[in-house]
Amino acid sequence: MRGTTVAAPGHSTLSHSFAPLECSAMTNADPARRTDPAVLPGPSRRRVLGAATGAGLTLAAGLPTAADAADVPLLGTYDVVVIGSGAAGMTAALTAAKQGLSCVVVEKAATFGGSAARSGAGIWIPNNPVILAAGVPDTPAKAATYLAAVVGPEVSAERRQAFLGHGPAMISFVMANSPLRFRWMEGYSDYYPELAGGLPGGRSIEPAMLDGNILGPELARLNPPYMAVPSGMVVFSADYKWLALAAVSARGAAVATECLARGTRAALLGQKPLTMGQSLAAGLRAGLLTAQVPVWLNTPLTDLYLENGAAAGAVVTRNGSAGLIRARHGVIVGSGGFEHNAAMRERYQRQPIGTEWTVGAKENTGDGIRAGERAGAALDLMDDAWWGPAIPLPDQPYFCLAERTLPGGLLVNAAGARFVNEAAPYSDVVHIMYERHATDPDIPAWLIVDQNYRNRYLFKDVAPTFTLPESWYASGAAHKAWTLDALAERIGVPPAALRATVNRFNGLALTGTDTDFRRGQSAYDHYYTDPAVRPNSCLAPLWLAPFYAFRIVPGDLGTKGGMRTDARARVLRPDGSVIPRLYAAGNASAAVMGHSYAGAGSTIGPAMTFGHIAALDVASTARA
Ligand SMILES: Cc1cc2nc3c(=O)[nH]c(=O)nc-3n(C[C@H](O)[C@H](O)[C@H](O)COP(=O)(O)OP(=O)(O)OC[C@H]3O[C@@H](n4cnc5c(N)ncnc54)[C@H](O)[C@@H]3O)c2cc1C
Repeated sequence: MRGTTVAAPGHSTLSHSFAPLECSAMTNADPARRTDPAVLPGPSRRRVLGAATGAGLTLAAGLPTAADAADVPLLGTYDVVVIGSGAAGMTAALTAAKQGLSCVVVEKAATFGGSAARSGAGIWIPNNPVILAAGVPDTPAKAATYLAAVVGPEVSAERRQAFLGHGPAMISFVMANSPLRFRWMEGYSDYYPELAGGLPGGRSIEPAMLDGNILGPELARLNPPYMAVPSGMVVFSADYKWLALAAVSARGAAVATECLARGTRAALLGQKPLTMGQSLAAGLRAGLLTAQVPVWLNTPLTDLYLENGAAAGAVVTRNGSAGLIRARHGVIVGSGGFEHNAAMRERYQRQPIGTEWTVGAKENTGDGIRAGERAGAALDLMDDAWWGPAIPLPDQPYFCLAERTLPGGLLVNAAGARFVNEAAPYSDVVHIMYERHATDPDIPAWLIVDQNYRNRYLFKDVAPTFTLPESWYASGAAHKAWTLDALAERIGVPPAALRATVNRFNGLALTGTDTDFRRGQSAYDHYYTDPAVRPNSCLAPLWLAPFYAFRIVPGDLGTKGGMRTDARARVLRPDGSVIPRLYAAGNASAAVMGHSYAGAGSTIGPAMTFGHIAALDVASTARA
């Protein structure tokens, strides 16, 4: 089995051509274990009930699924069943296939890629081969020191080490088994570069451009991006910092030109250029196509299927009916977080919270987490998310990166006072918003900027000097006034307080030292800023009317709480015991980052790595 690629004889690779067949090199080598779903019926109600109670679960405890499904048809039997086609799921499936295991991916959405496809696809993996080749001075010792300092003791050293130890090999594996290639996001600092082992030059990578033509018709089923790249351009995540400055910086203008040139080149070559999350998801999907791993779209997991307490399959809905997919060796849950589940957010998270401020994939409603909990899993970090200040624009929330940190802007609370270093890592800003909100309301907070700022910098996709869409004003997401007092009236903060705050901020900006919140003290603060601004590229006074205010709410990229797992990505019960053959990775599991965020890509890096680890563990356990 070692090193064998799944041949999947007779198995269609097209996601819609469902065929409940065996497709395992491992299985085919062992005819005794073959099962033909056309011949063998699904588990009887009695057997399924037996399995459920064998797991120590009772119907009263809410195990619905298999237990209630008297005639659940068997849809197929695989070595591994993977739930979700995002970063964790597709990496797990690719690994499983290359380990010689038969594998199917079930995906709830009509498209593949989940949040990963929507994302910027920054990937934080210390010591990965791409950054080492680029000369980044990383070492395993530095990375371990840094991660320990950032995450703290609430995440075990074993899990942290599993991530650091397997991450680089995972990237090599993905490059060897898919068309994906990666680039260093040069200069994208670790989020706490001053901590021991932190790197101000950054350790994050992102996918290189991929030609979508490699996917053929499957490209139409790629989950669309959160924000479309400007037409005619090929833009990487690392370019955005410079595009924001294109009007005021020679380098910004050069990067914009380069983005256009890439777009022109791709058009001339007849390419369908994909970057960021689109490249990542398409590249992983291309790897799965080559490895003949089927991805069944429109097939949500409804529950896990247990036999004698061990995960033995997944109950799904397919074509409107329930069905069972048996897993011989493991079920890997990569079904993302619960960002779009209002009840879970209400139950676990701080208020105010809803589902309207997240930018995560809409299908991420915690299905896998809840199924895992019913199967006995412990849950951790459920109060937390991959937070970031967002502007609730009428069409969708805007996850606000550069706009929040560029000089000439500041954040104020309901009292019109600053409350945070605006350039701090986005997750920290929201943690602070929630911590302070009960005593000093700051939800919503307001981003205040002046016309000088608006003349210099891109704001979302609105070019410098251009007027903001009327709908932003109509929705209350943006306000504009010719004086600070009038602006304060519009947003309901005390005018005198706002005036005093801006006056004080302007004084600090002129000295270049933010003695109040230390904005600009960390190298990270300077990533999304304007290097032409002196003496502190993070700080500029607000002086030119009109003034603008943007409503700021606690947005997120997705939640980070989920099933508790060990260093092998195995799901754990509250007593620390392992639920046999059940694995979780990505946002369906509690993050290896704990409550922290080490650098750009701290969600996708671990999601892919623990998906990889899970599949390796299934394979080695199956061999044992
Ligand atoms: C706009 C945006 C930008 C981002 N930028 C970055 C970035 O640059 N770097 C970074 O590290 N992170 C980023 N993130 C976050 C990152 O995309 C996610 O944290 C990451 O994709 C999580 O991986 P995952 O595999 O757990 O979940 P996902 O990638 O969301 O995949 C989960 C999949 O499971 C499917 N699913 C859900 N329920 C079921 C079910 N019942 N049955 C079957 N399938 C199911 C979903 O449809 C989805 O396809 C960004 C997110 C967004 C939205």
